[in-house]
Amino acid sequence: MNDLERLYQQIILDASRERHGEGLLEASEGESFQVNPTCGDQVKMQVHLDETGGKIAEIGWEGSGCSISQASISIMTQLLEGASLNHFSELYDAFREMMDGRGHEVNDELLDLLEDAAAFQGVAKFPARIKCALLGWMALREATDEAVKNGDAGVASGKVEHC
Ligand code: ZN
Repeated sequence: MNDLERLYQQIILDASRERHGEGLLEASEGESFQVNPTCGDQVKMQVHLDETGGKIAEIGWEGSGCSISQASISIMTQLLEGASLNHFSELYDAFREMMDGRGHEVNDELLDLLEDAAAFQGVAKFPARIKCALLGWMALREATDEAVKNGDAGVASGKVEHC
């Protein structure tokens, strides 16, 4: 194991203990429950958008499973609280691209963009663990999609009332 791999492993271990943002929210517009049956990981993810509907104000989650799945959720939450939905979309695509790379060399630009989430680069070498790392990201994607839909529905019903 080289120094970088050791550093990445430490980031993952720390994050799996820290569990950043764990706990459910009082108010959320979107929610998703995801299970990874091959490993037994699960997560309930909630998202609360800001008043403009274009930014993630708060993320809440409850989960259990292996340290990779829990660390990935923790790091993702840390990176995306307060981020715009556009930024989430960009990071989601970057994370998927890295995991789909099956451990091949990832360009530095992508790694810079992903910050601590780049630590999962080595996990991409192990096909059985890729789902562990992706679980939280898939849950947040579904939760934000639902939140955006609910936001639009709120605007639409408001219009109806005014007629
Ligand atoms: Zn797992």
